[in-house]
Amino acid sequence: MLTCKLFNYMNILDNLNPAQREAVINTDGPSLVLAGAGSGKTRVLTYKVAYILKEGLAKSWEILAVTFTNKAAGEMRSRIEGLLGEDIGKMWVGTFHAIFARVLRQYGHHLGYNQNFAIYDREDQLKIVKELIKNEPGLGWLDNPQRALWIISSIKSKLRPPENIGGYQNYDPEFLFSAYEKRLKNSNALDFDDLLVKPLNLFQQNPEIAAIYQSRFRYILVDEFQDTNIAQNELLKLLWLKHRNITAVGDDDQAIYGWRGAELKNILQFARDYPGAKIFRLEQNYRSTDSILKAAQAVIDNNRGRHSKTLWTEKVGGNKPVLISADDDREEAAVIAKEILRLVETGRKRDQIAVFYRTNAQSRILEMFLLEEGIPYTIVGGLKFYQRKEIKDLLAYLKLIINPNDNVSFDRVVKFPPRGIGAATIAKLNETASAKNMQVLEAVDALDESSGLRQAAINRLKGFGSLIKRLTEYERQNSFPNLVKYTLTQSGLMEHFMAEGTEEAFSRAENLREFTAAAVDYYKRYPERNLIDFLQEAALVSDTDEWEEGELVSLMTLHSAKGLEFPVVFITGLEDGLFPLIRNDQPDIEEERRLFYVGVTRAEELLYISHTGFRRGGMYNTPSRFLKEIPKELLDTIERLQQRLSRASRKETKHDKIPAFDSAKFKRGDMVNHSKFGDGIVESCEGKGENETVTLFFRGYGMKKLLVKFAKLKLVK
Ligand code: ATP
Ligand code: MG
Repeated sequence: MLTCKLFNYMNILDNLNPAQREAVINTDGPSLVLAGAGSGKTRVLTYKVAYILKEGLAKSWEILAVTFTNKAAGEMRSRIEGLLGEDIGKMWVGTFHAIFARVLRQYGHHLGYNQNFAIYDREDQLKIVKELIKNEPGLGWLDNPQRALWIISSIKSKLRPPENIGGYQNYDPEFLFSAYEKRLKNSNALDFDDLLVKPLNLFQQNPEIAAIYQSRFRYILVDEFQDTNIAQNELLKLLWLKHRNITAVGDDDQAIYGWRGAELKNILQFARDYPGAKIFRLEQNYRSTDSILKAAQAVIDNNRGRHSKTLWTEKVGGNKPVLISADDDREEAAVIAKEILRLVETGRKRDQIAVFYRTNAQSRILEMFLLEEGIPYTIVGGLKFYQRKEIKDLLAYLKLIINPNDNVSFDRVVKFPPRGIGAATIAKLNETASAKNMQVLEAVDALDESSGLRQAAINRLKGFGSLIKRLTEYERQNSFPNLVKYTLTQSGLMEHFMAEGTEEAFSRAENLREFTAAAVDYYKRYPERNLIDFLQEAALVSDTDEWEEGELVSLMTLHSAKGLEFPVVFITGLEDGLFPLIRNDQPDIEEERRLFYVGVTRAEELLYISHTGFRRGGMYNTPSRFLKEIPKELLDTIERLQQRLSRASRKETKHDKIPAFDSAKFKRGDMVNHSKFGDGIVESCEGKGENETVTLFFRGYGMKKLLVKFAKLKLVK
């Protein structure tokens, strides 16, 4: 029995390097593992839990392990179970929010919440704040619900009121805060910040409850510690007090949530908060090749005020990161989709490939080209473009314009953006419509006092009715991309999001602009098609759910990529203004740089970085300063890669002809010259005689499909 147990310890510790092993067996007291990306921090946490359990230092329910996402929690749990060969059902592994919601379910009644409390998301919160602004005289100074939420959240997560950011007269954050709190309390509801702040209150007001958890959690382990906020660290500082065993792992170079209230200070002052802390450093990176690490290092070296770290890897050599310089965002997406296709054809699995972008709006064009190439994809941690709320809002306007009978769309747009038309008014209107056997829009026209509605409500509805009429009129005389633009301004949608001024609202406004670009694009490509075709295409794009199973390429924002790893990574949009993202006067360039570092260090074997000369809207076009921070010799270019590949494929096809190319004048891999585009490489050929086309890749121009009969291509020997 004893030997068997011993054998297992050995097994666990064998899979660690000496520095990791040190960190794992140092179970007692506070410790911080401060180390670079891919050095095994998450692995150390996982192994440490297994080790503690194996050693019999604690029962599984006496351990608290905190992860950054629910998905990471699931993975950690199953890894630990894999290492131990047994179930750890009772162990608390989860995000801060999940763990403390659980505490509140049990003891929230001490704060006056019963255990069925609701958790309000942003939409619920907005509803409440809007009502408050309308009804509370003391909130006359406040005009913007999103900003109100920001103020409330800052008070909660930083545990102090923010300065007057809106420059409001009679600014009174405390009044706003208490009015909001009262409303939530009356609904037996908590918001996300409450899930952290209320347990703190609970513990502070009821030391005997704090004592229960303090004695219970013999060991506390926290991943991604660099992104904890003040409330989270306060909770940890309270819970560790009895047994004083806490292990935090993190990397100050990967702190990317400053904008959401995370405090890099937590990691920098760890030893002050947890006296006696030992600091462990890990230096071997197991994830990426040397070529990728060098590029990552070159970038992050430009940040000041960081802990210097050494990171090395045994995976020497490897392909250099590949730079894709595209003319515009369409070409960027096209090159990426083609390259993914090539990788898949040469044996890569789709789920080994990920594409990252800085802003959600960038996914639209990528999605389109992946669809066109028939490459199944999934959007990680987000919605597909056409499923996003603001896009659905806009789509609903367009749908209503072409189909006045569309009651679902009517209901959606009459309420949004808010124009003071409430549910009761709409219900009355619907009654009138069905009594008179009319479309709702016709009923709006016919409304009078007999409807039982107040004159103010009637006026608002009529105002809305004439908006839709105006849009319908416009549609008859203008192209549909212009209609999209006109709808955005006339409906007030764009203005609504622009006025909110929050990060989230900016992102929504950007998505709306991206939608406009999509319409223009579609119109240029298919001049003979109309709005109905376009809407149908949008509906189909969002209906690819059958792909949710099986091997998928992952698309996600750089923020969602944290902690993950993929053999092949594409990072897109490396343009100044977009990445680093610059939205206000004081962009946090160092945080943006850390975000780029996070992206680069997700890649195991192949990394592609792309930028474009022109992006719709023309906003971003100079290459990102981050690109310039990577020495040229560390990068390859897609053109060089393509040339090497085509040389290789030419050798292959000498003996082994691919029938598809037989009838063509050119073979895949041939180098040809074009009078305007210069030298290019043949990707594929199609058709015969008059219809013969050839798809070529030109340096600086990207992929072009040309008719051979017109293109005057010359073979270059
Ligand atoms: P990040 O900073 O990105 O969160 P990390 O420091 O948490 O990275 P891990 O994800 O734990 O790093 O490890 C990176 C990869 O290296 C994983 O695939 C992990 O399994 C592997 N790895 C870590 N340590 C070892 C080891 N000693 N032997 C073999 N593989 C290892
Ligand atoms: Mg990790």
